[in-house]
Amino acid sequence: MSSQVKYIFVTGGVSSSLGKGIIAASLAKLLQAQGYKTTIQKLDPYINVDPGTLNPYEHGECYVTNDGAETDLDLGHYERFLNVPTSQANNITTGRIYQSVISKERKGEYLGKTVQVIPHITDEIKQNIKFLSEQNKYDIIITEIGGTVGDIESLPYIEALRQLRWEMGEENLIVIHLTLIPYLSAAKELKTKPTQHSVKTLMESGVQADILVCRTEHELRQGIREKLARFCNVNSDCVIQSLDVNTIYDVPNYMYREGLDKVVLKKLKLEYSEPNLKSWNLFLERYKNPKGSVKIGLIGKYIELQDSYKSILESFIHAGAINEVGVEVVPVHSEHLNSGNVHEKLRFFDGVLVAPGFGERGVEGKIEAIKYVRLNRIPFFGICYGMQMAVIEYSRNVLNFSDANSTEVNPNTKYPVIDLMENQKNIINKGGTMRLGTWECSLKENSLCHSIYESNKINERHRHRYELNNKYLSKLQDNGLIASGINDETNLVEVVEIKDHPWFVGVQYHPEYQSTVSSPHPLFVSFIKAAIKNNI
Ligand code: GLN
Repeated sequence: MSSQVKYIFVTGGVSSSLGKGIIAASLAKLLQAQGYKTTIQKLDPYINVDPGTLNPYEHGECYVTNDGAETDLDLGHYERFLNVPTSQANNITTGRIYQSVISKERKGEYLGKTVQVIPHITDEIKQNIKFLSEQNKYDIIITEIGGTVGDIESLPYIEALRQLRWEMGEENLIVIHLTLIPYLSAAKELKTKPTQHSVKTLMESGVQADILVCRTEHELRQGIREKLARFCNVNSDCVIQSLDVNTIYDVPNYMYREGLDKVVLKKLKLEYSEPNLKSWNLFLERYKNPKGSVKIGLIGKYIELQDSYKSILESFIHAGAINEVGVEVVPVHSEHLNSGNVHEKLRFFDGVLVAPGFGERGVEGKIEAIKYVRLNRIPFFGICYGMQMAVIEYSRNVLNFSDANSTEVNPNTKYPVIDLMENQKNIINKGGTMRLGTWECSLKENSLCHSIYESNKINERHRHRYELNNKYLSKLQDNGLIASGINDETNLVEVVEIKDHPWFVGVQYHPEYQSTVSSPHPLFVSFIKAAIKNNI
């Protein structure tokens, strides 16, 4: 490992959901804005090998990287903040660690030895942590340990951290502890005790926090900061306040004002310079001062939880800012949509997006929504399952294939216009076996997509098992549904559109994974433009 690579670990205390991912991404942004090549890694303590087998209710969206890793949604934040792609190496789970150790054991790599949490599991964790620094691509690696200090399942990670700190030294590895300072309204007081305890719990594992980032709903007075510093063994300039802000995109500026980047670089003995946040702030200015607004209906079945469609919601923020409009995204539950209420539920929208998804639930509502926006010439954006539903809708209502469907929903349909991909037919295991990651797609000249991307070839990320059944392609095309994007190697249809519609695009891939603050995705940008037009 090159010795110059510096590590910043981020642990969490007192409560979950404090936003370690956002703090990590914001710090990374500030370091990147000073010229440091920075990446972030997430260590997840659960036993799933990856979050691909978890449903969005459990874990929010599953974020897919270029190399086809199904990862934690925090990696989406990292990419959106930094505009640097992540990979499988940026997300490790306990399941992955054990899987690797057990397969080594079976191969006989530890022959004669008892395989144990220490050293075998911790060595495997350390190896995975060091792997990123061996690539000689980064100056600083921020490693976020999921969960909360004191959890049984995160102990091996904390132990690996202790060992690494011992090996690398305090100048090369520092620890930021993100904690909560609760406010007792009856006593009108902020309380430091839970933080003292979580810092102590960390110390019981041999790890001293260097910096405390304190989530709080009220200003931390100097007295509280000093108290925290004294009881937790940190310098008083290392007690960083993190009040709630309006948007996650405010956090880098907030952390800058609090001096988080300054103390981090001081501890790591690296040079500090003023971060250049010009383009970031331009985005913020546009985002916060929209000149108009559009209303977008998001049709899906996981709408109760914000995190389920995280990347889509963020892509709308990026696309709205560059178009200088506010995008109000209104979730519509596909299960509650039918021909009787679709007009009432969708008529106020300037555009409608039908979300990705799996399984039977809510499918008919999605199809109903697509029929409505197609006939009423409302801009339509279908992503993955949303694109497949558009093909089904067109087959049923234009081609008159009355029971057309995906074999995912109805294996016995007479018209399987969406069918399992050939190379999926013999796959039994569910984990990591979909068509995943980046694949190339050729765009047809004179198509809407071609003019949006301004390119003949694009690369987009995927996560699906089913595809448009090419047996029906010529019938669909003869009747006006154009396949404007194709994967040349497999002939798989990647994009469909309708010519005489203001904006009707269905994509088999997930453009939302590639939209970032500095590079909003062209499809989202164009969709919002069409919605603005529709609104006038
Ligand atoms: N269920 C569909 C498939 O597997 C779509 C997946 C998705 O929307 N990500 O092909």
